[in-house]
Amino acid sequence: MIFLAPIALSWMRFAPVPRNLISKVNAYLIYPALFGKRHSQPLAFNIGIAPTRGQSFFIVYIILINVIFSGVGIFFGRPNAWYPDDPAAGIRNAVANRVGVLSLVNLALVFLFSGRNNILLWLTDWSHSTFLLMHRWIGYVAILQALLHSVIWLDYYVKAGTHSAESRLPYWYWGIIATLALSLILPLSALPVRQKMYELFLAWHVILAAITLVGCYLHIWYLFKHMWGYETWLYPAMALWVFDRLVRIIRLMRNGVKRANVDVVDDDYTMVSIPGVAAEGYAYLYFPTLTWKIWENHPFSVASLLLPMSFRGIEGTDTRSGDSSSKNSVGAVEKPSMTDVTGGYDMERAATASLASSKPTIGLTFFVRNQTGLTSLLRTRPSLPVLVESPYGHHADLSSYPTFICVAGGVGITAVLPALRRHLGHSKLFWSVRSAGIVKVMEPHLAGINKEVSVGKRFELLDLLQREVGADEGDVAVMVSGPGGMSDDVRAIVSEIGRRTHKRRVEFIEESFTW
Ligand SMILES: Cc1cc2nc3c(=O)[nH]c(=O)nc-3n(C[C@H](O)[C@H](O)[C@H](O)COP(=O)(O)OP(=O)(O)OC[C@H]3O[C@@H](n4cnc5c(N)ncnc54)[C@H](O)[C@@H]3O)c2cc1C
Repeated sequence: MIFLAPIALSWMRFAPVPRNLISKVNAYLIYPALFGKRHSQPLAFNIGIAPTRGQSFFIVYIILINVIFSGVGIFFGRPNAWYPDDPAAGIRNAVANRVGVLSLVNLALVFLFSGRNNILLWLTDWSHSTFLLMHRWIGYVAILQALLHSVIWLDYYVKAGTHSAESRLPYWYWGIIATLALSLILPLSALPVRQKMYELFLAWHVILAAITLVGCYLHIWYLFKHMWGYETWLYPAMALWVFDRLVRIIRLMRNGVKRANVDVVDDDYTMVSIPGVAAEGYAYLYFPTLTWKIWENHPFSVASLLLPMSFRGIEGTDTRSGDSSSKNSVGAVEKPSMTDVTGGYDMERAATASLASSKPTIGLTFFVRNQTGLTSLLRTRPSLPVLVESPYGHHADLSSYPTFICVAGGVGITAVLPALRRHLGHSKLFWSVRSAGIVKVMEPHLAGINKEVSVGKRFELLDLLQREVGADEGDVAVMVSGPGGMSDDVRAIVSEIGRRTHKRRVEFIEESFTW
């Protein structure tokens, strides 16, 4: 049921419901953050991410359905031959068994919702970040159920005086190992951990998940062999994991090994260009020669499918000279093919020339904001091998909205550009950035787009959105991609506008760079 619910909810968008009613429902019940304004911005002390109201309904549904099934249909005969003197213990143990099974069922969903190649991503319009949020909540439920299962049985055997004998049996210690591994995932995946050490978090997440599956399997095997089929719930989890990894490999192999050209835009941004690959949405990039963690990969949005001219050349060949110690920097590295009168490299001119050319070169262009990990290392290598796992992400169909407004902050521009290019009606981009470097380099990619760009200054989002979408005329879609605070402000303002609207549909789309 939890598997089908996202499909049913998502397909409700095709129902013939009056547009203004959809707007009202979205504005009151779906778009706003659960409390106050924070959704993209973490809650106080980084304790976590508050869901939106729409997401909260699904979370409540997950919890309710689990609570109900923890008790429904448990048959306990009285008098009971197994528990003649203590029927309460019998009922507790029956519930312990039920929540144990439910925990296994939820594990399958946890794996399903976490996958990059999650069938539900293809069947619904829910984003990967929504599925990851649900992955966490179903995970909390599964952990609680595993703990309940273990604690109730522990209490029973301690009271019965048989704990020391029981705890030497393989089924027992494998059960304990599985519960401990699963429970450890909770503190080790807390938001501050994910923010500060994402790669470590991923590594122990995978290891602990594997231990949990093996532990659960052996727990069931030693206790029941394959008598009651409890292990059946583990197979979907394993199959989904294998499926996700296999599809990742297929996506990687389809693109093969390419060469990335890295240009430092300014202190904040780097441009990565990869000739000979095409993709939409976002891609996971692997730079196997950059660190010893050859499997490390990060998601980046495809800013453009056309490459600056300097990157043309034989596919897979570095079109420029330069060793790994020399940084490519706008106006800093001399390149004979693209020199301006001062002898410096003019990336803006190069890009404009390429994009304006009658034979544009296909390839992927990414703009990367420097963080402290791989993104900062990338700046030290002008050219390096890259693997591209793509395509990912789906684009909302905005063709029925005559007006489309995009608000982007910094590198968030990369996520909104494809939608802007696709939209045929009236569209306008509001892009605020801290420094001018990226504006200069992006200029050719923004050609023909109706835009206002603000460098070093924030837009007055309330005034801006009131002006652009406040008037109650024509359906309008608003997309935001930028820092958490900006996304939350736009979400709150658009929800407010939707609440006041009468005759039209107001759609809100957030493209998020965090999950
Ligand atoms: C769908 C999507 C599209 C994105 N597109 C772009 C883009 O076009 N340009 C851009 O500059 N950034 C983009 N990002 C963000 C980018 O993935 C992170 O900034 C990058 O992974 C940080 O790498 P790092 O090793 O330098 O991070 P660190 O300095 O180690 O960490 C910085 C932050 O990035 C997060 N992070 C680290 N690794 C990952 C990962 N593998 N997946 C998700 N988050 C991670 C951490 O939790 C932390 O909050 C996108 C993110 C997502 C989810």
